[in-house]
Amino acid sequence: MGIDWITVATAAAAALVLVAPLLAVMVRQHRRHARAARTDPLTGLGNRTLLAQAAERVLGGLAGPGSPADPHGDGTRGPAVLLLDLDGFKDVNDTLGHHAGDELLTQVARRLEAVAGADAVVTRLGGDEFAVLLTAPVTTSQAVLHAKRLLAALGAGGFTARDIDLDIAGSIGVAVAPGAGRTVGDLLRRADQAMYEAKRSRAGVCAATAALVPETADGLTTLALLRGAMEHGQLSLVYQPVVEAGTGQLVGFEALLRWQHPTRGVLLPAEFLPLAERTSLIRPLTRWVLLTAVRQAADWRRAGLDTSIAVNVSASVLEPGLLGIVEEALALNSWPAEQLVLEVTESALAADAQEAREVILALSARGLPVSIDDFGAGYTSLGQLRGLPVRQLKIDRQFVTCMLEAPDDAAITASIIDLGHRLGLRVVAEGVESPGTTDRLRDLGCDHLQGFSISRPVSAAAALEAWRSARPTPLP
Ligand code: C2E
Ligand code: CA
Ligand code: CA
Repeated sequence: MGIDWITVATAAAAALVLVAPLLAVMVRQHRRHARAARTDPLTGLGNRTLLAQAAERVLGGLAGPGSPADPHGDGTRGPAVLLLDLDGFKDVNDTLGHHAGDELLTQVARRLEAVAGADAVVTRLGGDEFAVLLTAPVTTSQAVLHAKRLLAALGAGGFTARDIDLDIAGSIGVAVAPGAGRTVGDLLRRADQAMYEAKRSRAGVCAATAALVPETADGLTTLALLRGAMEHGQLSLVYQPVVEAGTGQLVGFEALLRWQHPTRGVLLPAEFLPLAERTSLIRPLTRWVLLTAVRQAADWRRAGLDTSIAVNVSASVLEPGLLGIVEEALALNSWPAEQLVLEVTESALAADAQEAREVILALSARGLPVSIDDFGAGYTSLGQLRGLPVRQLKIDRQFVTCMLEAPDDAAITASIIDLGHRLGLRVVAEGVESPGTTDRLRDLGCDHLQGFSISRPVSAAAALEAWRSARPTPLP
């Protein structure tokens, strides 16, 4: 018996007529469920699932070899997670009730949406915790600035619950990919640590310094590769000029470490140094940096560029062995101690770090200028500066970079300059990113400047070249 195609086709059409609306309903339902699964029911913002999906889309491009980090070293640049936690929210819940708390959270959600900008995805992770994903690549200082704007928007007031005006403040932790992590999980974890720090220190905003944890397989591989990197010529130094604020004249270079990783492209110190600092590897690494930097400075001198060189020294190598390494670097290159600046972070000087203080005393007695790096970022009491023979303070760049936009930052910068001068120290501002900031710092009497607006860190050859072309040509 032949198939009656007309009957079949009619039956199929009839079935379709019956099924199609059902399908449409199912698709709509599915979409609704999918949307519900990604939405926070209270505020209507996206939830953690939505954040993960949105982050995956923008972070996908970072996984492969060749990190987008700038080889010349402007720090990490990528999508960022800003994790916001309201301060004192529990009090609102406890005193005014959960309804009031919910009202407030909804208003905060609307405010954040209104100010977060086009390239931002605002989500609520639960409780009084919100996460903002910046999808377009940013530097850490741009992300911090963004976070400060969010806090300023919350601080602007206008929140009410049960007809009571409420003042809102919050703390934000910032994590920028790829330095602080390449997955949303890593970024959230690092942002959470930074947020905790921001709360603890009452700083408002804190940025995660990038770090790989050695406990992970990734960390162990990195350590193993880093061990070989010195012998295989994968490490290099870039140099960033420091100039006199008044005249713009070159006063020296700061040496900054780079690693040409075999698969991940050029890595910034934040991506591998914290790891090295937790192992004995930091000692040979410090030796390599000191010998290389001083040799380079001596080479420049032979080429006519007579300048000082600054090297960063991790807190973990402030031990008597450092003195030997320094002597070796000076002796091998007949380099004067007065022209080798050692930069030590403020946190290395904690009151209990007696050995570190003794090493600084010894270095200083030997004639090396010691500079306190990232000043203002740590929690050292000013009293700990007393009796330490340091030569200069370097204002932490988080205050300098945003000082034109953030009055608090400007006030802190001005106070550090004043404090440094009262203590008879030279004050250096780093993270100078605009001519406007240069002018302001000059007006404030800051001594030396360093930052992208003057020059990014460059190779040794480029540094020499730039100096040659800036030098007035001698008269014939
Ligand atoms: P640092 O000592 O505060 O060095 C300055 C950092 O700021 C450098 O980052 C530099 O590239 C960046 N920078 C310079 N100008 C600007 C600016 O205008 N805006 C912004 N946003 N950033 C600017 P880098 O090279 O990634 O180094 C990060 C940190 O790693 C250094 O911070 C220093 O603490 C550490 N480090 C670098 N090289 C070494 C080293 O050889 N040994 C040790 N122990 N630490 C190092
Ligand atoms: Ca430094
Ligand atoms: Ca610094």
